[in-house]
Amino acid sequence: MHPLATLDHRYLWHPFTQMRDWLKREPIVIVKGKGARLWDAHGREYLDANSSIWTNLHGHNHPRINAAIRRQLGKIAHSSALGLANEPASLLAAELVEAANPAVAQASSLGVKGASPPPVHEARMLRQPAGWKPALRKVFFSDDGSTAMEVALKLAYAFARRTGLSQKPKFLTLEGAYHGDTVGAVSLGHIDLFHKAHAGLLFKTDKVMAPYCYRCPFNRAKAERADARDYRKCNWECIGKLEQKFTAQAKRGNPYAAFVFEPLMQGAAGMIPQPAGWLSRAAEIARAHGALLIADEVMTGFGRAGFGAPQEGERPREPKHPKGLHAGLARTLTPPLFACHHEGVQPDFLALAKGLTGGYLPMAATLTTQAVFDAFLGEYEEFKTFFHGHSFTGNQLGAAAGLASLEMLQTTGSVRARRRLEQTLHDELRTLWRWPNVGDIRQVGLVAGIELVRDWRTREPFDLRQRAGIRVCEALAKRGVLTRPIGDVVVLMPPYCTTPTEARRMVAALGEAIAGLPRRVSEPPR
Ligand code: PMP
Repeated sequence: MHPLATLDHRYLWHPFTQMRDWLKREPIVIVKGKGARLWDAHGREYLDANSSIWTNLHGHNHPRINAAIRRQLGKIAHSSALGLANEPASLLAAELVEAANPAVAQASSLGVKGASPPPVHEARMLRQPAGWKPALRKVFFSDDGSTAMEVALKLAYAFARRTGLSQKPKFLTLEGAYHGDTVGAVSLGHIDLFHKAHAGLLFKTDKVMAPYCYRCPFNRAKAERADARDYRKCNWECIGKLEQKFTAQAKRGNPYAAFVFEPLMQGAAGMIPQPAGWLSRAAEIARAHGALLIADEVMTGFGRAGFGAPQEGERPREPKHPKGLHAGLARTLTPPLFACHHEGVQPDFLALAKGLTGGYLPMAATLTTQAVFDAFLGEYEEFKTFFHGHSFTGNQLGAAAGLASLEMLQTTGSVRARRRLEQTLHDELRTLWRWPNVGDIRQVGLVAGIELVRDWRTREPFDLRQRAGIRVCEALAKRGVLTRPIGDVVVLMPPYCTTPTEARRMVAALGEAIAGLPRRVSEPPR
């Protein structure tokens, strides 16, 4: 065993890991990374097929992000945001506000919807106009996805109380939701496995059916060798359930204060994508009931949601930019950086983390509206202050990395590479249908979930003890490809710099790993 692995075994406790299993074998100790590749302490090379738990965007050891961090390091690494401002945090906040407000939402200082939109709290009383797009004007920095969601939760709670909307604000979230591991964020989630152990610590939030076409009880279609969203037969019952939930809560006299969701795809729930149109309809219903929208784009943000469904057999298209195009114009041609904007939805709170720094440093942001910000203004002795913050809020190194990452995301080179990668993934993933243990392949932009089943015709899942997802990922690691499963869903989420050859290697290795699974006749668990 490598001496570093011995140290790990002796002293470390790993997240979301059964340590008894961990201690049975030598861990992979990562010592180096470059682009989409990682190297371990024995010199073995791997492809980082889940972007280091969904964080990395442009690749490891990227010269531009490295240089930005080094430049900042030459000035200062960290000074507190409590009582002090700093250069990169101010610049990054300005850039985030610009990126989070597509041109249409910038038309007014409050938002867009016809003439002189009402302030949010008034709008709520009146029912917010459909398609209401508040402008996101303020940025609250924190440390990670969980804290970004805690901030959104606390702000929405206090905002609802202060504006007199509700003395007991209630939150509606999606079935299977995951929004982080701090107690507030866990309360917003609905993965029983993570909740049971801490049930007594949590507050109650309501859940509503989330679209999960592959396993939807209302989908009457027989299984096909295609993404279940494309062949489903249903009457949009998931939307009906959502509407019923809002109506029932309104009848109780305490309408939901906020609707919390991951747009386009629920990540930790099992890479569960929403069929086209679900997001805009869900947002419209929530707005009609006066609920604030809290979008968790911790996973989907910063280009992960891609460009929209790639076409069958289509050659990768390149954005048509004349050579030497002015950078400002190139910016307007970039696809939406945030998943919400794919369906024209503008939330009141936008939680960002993971890719915010290109996946380099732990930093997060919660963006919100002027109306929310204003609700916390007052005389010192009124104590309307938002009493929340962290030691590393607005950290300079993170902000410098974030600025470099955002700039790169908007270059034509990055846009072109992302488009090509999305299409390559789409084309390669189709080769996996040949395996009878592949039940569903669902891709949203540069994220894919491959659901493994015992029998694709019946959608019968594997027995838990067969650890199908884990087995496949272990077999993948032996083939030099690293990712982690969510139950029996294998995740492919490569860094944007992944070349077509590397993407093909990832999918080919996955096919070989799946080929090793037991077929229809179940093997006894080993
Ligand atoms: N929200 C979503 C959608 C996530 O995917 C995650 C992490 N996987 C979180 C919140 C929590 O983020 P973190 O692990 O950085 O606290």
